[in-house]
Amino acid sequence: MSTATPAVTTAALEKSKIAILGYGSQGRSHALNLRDSGLDVIVGLRAGGATAATAKADGFTVVEPAEAVKQADLVAVLTPDMVQPDLYVNAIEKNLKANAALLFAHGFNVHFKTITPRKDIDVILVAPKGPGHLVRTEYEIGRGVPCLYAVYQDVTGKAREKAMAYAAGLGGARALLIETDFKEETETDLFGEQAVLCGGASELVQKGFETLVEAGYRPEIAYYEVLHELKLIVDLLYQGGITKMLTFISETAQYGDYVSGPRIVDAATKERMKAVLKDIQDGTFAKNWTAEYKAGLPNYKKFKQADLDHPIEKIGAKLREKMVWLNQQK
Ligand code: NAD
Ligand code: MG
Repeated sequence: MSTATPAVTTAALEKSKIAILGYGSQGRSHALNLRDSGLDVIVGLRAGGATAATAKADGFTVVEPAEAVKQADLVAVLTPDMVQPDLYVNAIEKNLKANAALLFAHGFNVHFKTITPRKDIDVILVAPKGPGHLVRTEYEIGRGVPCLYAVYQDVTGKAREKAMAYAAGLGGARALLIETDFKEETETDLFGEQAVLCGGASELVQKGFETLVEAGYRPEIAYYEVLHELKLIVDLLYQGGITKMLTFISETAQYGDYVSGPRIVDAATKERMKAVLKDIQDGTFAKNWTAEYKAGLPNYKKFKQADLDHPIEKIGAKLREKMVWLNQQK
């Protein structure tokens, strides 16, 4: 006998007013998808801020964040993580109705206690596993991007339903909803971007480029070998895991992978990954990042400039100009 779970719908939010604070990558796609799912959405932004004009052009009522919060039954906090603590204190804390829901797309501030939510509200999380533009385009096609959801605080007994309804409104329920908690979402998200996706991958590319160029090979050839072709490999991983990658690369590439991969990323690398994870788990990373942000980003700016000045960026810009299809995707 089939015991299919009832489809997840937006029903739990049908009578709710939803305030979206922030109208960037996530904010805009959330606002548009929720409205197209039949929900009542207003947008809260600083007058004259960078994205207020876009939200108005999209047909939304735009009011100051504090005003949007006063009207709302659910407030989605979709500004950059580092501005959320001040936004919470200045616009949310005194204005949010009791029993309303406060929703985040990343658990950073709640988990690391840079925001301490009031005790009389639901606190939930819905994190689409994709950038904002994909959340929007998949929704428009009639599909959805899988979403993680979590409950941190449940005063109404309906927090979980609200999170699932919000994820359904984004289109996530058409794909997959996975329940998690704030700790797991926050720590794994930070680890992934630091060790593998952003930090690990960019460092691997730069060091590979430097190795070839220092050995006398031309930078344009090195660029193609260690950066450009990475996309072909990542596409295979994305579509079918390492299994698919192994099916599509040559036997020579496979043998080289097996014998040389572990010489580059070895047991010592894994030990350092564990150290990175520990800094995330014990709050060291959050403490350092918050202090860096408050100090006006002195190291962040220095590190960023070094990345922008790396020789691979110069040769890359030149080579990409000749690849017309890349310019069309800007
Ligand atoms: P973003 O930088 O694209 O957009 C930020 C928005 O906040 C803009 O509309 C900006 O004008 C507004 N804003 C900036 N400072 C403000 C302030 N002081 N007061 C009010 N509004 C202000 O941000 P994003 O990348 O969409 O991230 C939003 C949240 O979503 C974050 O918690 C992030 O961790 C999470 N998230 C992002 C992604 C992603 O792919 N970008 C994926 C999952 C979760
Ligand atoms: Mg780097």
